[in-house]
Amino acid sequence: MNDDNYDIAIIGGGPVGMALALALRHNGISILLLEARGLPEKVDDIRPLALSHGSYLILNRLGAWRNLPQATLIKTIHISNKGYLGRTVLTTQDAGVPALGHVVNYLDLYRALFEAVQQTNIDYQTSAIVQEFSTDEHLGYVSYTRHDAVKKKISAKLLILADGGRLGSQLEDITYQVTEYNQWAITANIQAEIQQTGIAYERFTSDGPIALLPSGDHFALVWTTSPEAAKEILALRDNQFLAQLHDHFGDRLGQFTHASKRSGFPLALKYATPTTSRRIALVGNAAQTLHPVAGQGFNLGLRDAYELSQVIQETLYEHKEIGTAAMLKQFREKRRFDSNGGRIFTDTLVKLFSNDMPLIRHLCGTGLILLDNLPLIKRFVARRMIFGARG
Ligand SMILES: Cc1cc2nc3c(=O)[nH]c(=O)nc-3n(C[C@H](O)[C@H](O)[C@H](O)COP(=O)(O)OP(=O)(O)OC[C@H]3O[C@@H](n4cnc5c(N)ncnc54)[C@H](O)[C@@H]3O)c2cc1C
Repeated sequence: MNDDNYDIAIIGGGPVGMALALALRHNGISILLLEARGLPEKVDDIRPLALSHGSYLILNRLGAWRNLPQATLIKTIHISNKGYLGRTVLTTQDAGVPALGHVVNYLDLYRALFEAVQQTNIDYQTSAIVQEFSTDEHLGYVSYTRHDAVKKKISAKLLILADGGRLGSQLEDITYQVTEYNQWAITANIQAEIQQTGIAYERFTSDGPIALLPSGDHFALVWTTSPEAAKEILALRDNQFLAQLHDHFGDRLGQFTHASKRSGFPLALKYATPTTSRRIALVGNAAQTLHPVAGQGFNLGLRDAYELSQVIQETLYEHKEIGTAAMLKQFREKRRFDSNGGRIFTDTLVKLFSNDMPLIRHLCGTGLILLDNLPLIKRFVARRMIFGARG
């Protein structure tokens, strides 16, 4: 085989791209994985990721879980509505699973997947920046610059965009729908007077949701607020920041005593329609970028990757060609329900709860009370969050 022709080329070696490459590793096909960033040491991103039990099962199967230095179990999720009555508590018993989730951070997950990819014969090129790509009926073509500044062009039967949503706009037959939330997420690691005991707190406020997730011996914060307020919060001195966080979150965890470096992320809903094009499939944030409320984005992207790998494996098993319109249609249909469900669920939560209209907030509070008292609905919601459409 000529080195420049592959069965599959994955553009974007972030968590979803790497997971997909790993899921395909035992099929005797040639895989090129192109990542713009360098080694994990260069990835300065400790945003917390709440991984569902379903994601744990997939990452375990891919051989990446054992490389994670630390993952903290979520045993209970406490959901409240600031300034209004109503709360819900979800437990492992409600969902019928050993853990509601596991908290890791982006860098640790990136490194764990990176190490697993190193154990395979996947052609994984870092510091490789894709400039453009195109397709014809039989092949896709990718032009990129290698780490040593050499320009390359390769072909593959199937191109997979896992680039977080940067290059998809080059495709004329794919439209990205974008809703700006006018919110930023601020992340940091926080120490509180009260130690974490496996409870994740999700508190809805009129500015946006705030989450404190158990993470090692501390909490991982995701605080959403308007872009203007976020810029001010990011610029505060640590003691001012901790006091403001306490004002906003309340006294459930006592005083906040220490904060790590803070980061800010602008938030928007962005999703592609359709999620395939000729000889191309989109996965992860390239297919849909969600608000972090309820921690759905990576979990959904991982299911995109895993289910695409299953469609590819079935195609190979039946001795059919990969990357055809029929195969891509099968992938689209397999993912439609789960991906629409995840998007509508998070978007509705943000829009319903992030407003200061008392009537709507009262109704939301009533919804939380009802949810807390209806075990079957609670189980449905919990399992939907953990396993996606299959829940
Ligand atoms: C504050 C915050 C908190 C979150 N919390 C959660 C959570 O609790 N649970 C959850 O499930 N999700 C969460 N998410 C969402 C999660 O971070 C994303 O869904 C996930 O990172 C998507 O992974 P990805 O691999 O698709 O994209 P990315 O992580 O964006 O990776 C894309 C990769 O493609 C590479 N790339 C881009 N362009 C090129 C190019 N031209 N050439 C080569 N490579 C390229 C990039 O360098 C990058 O490595 C959160 C998001 C935010 C912002």
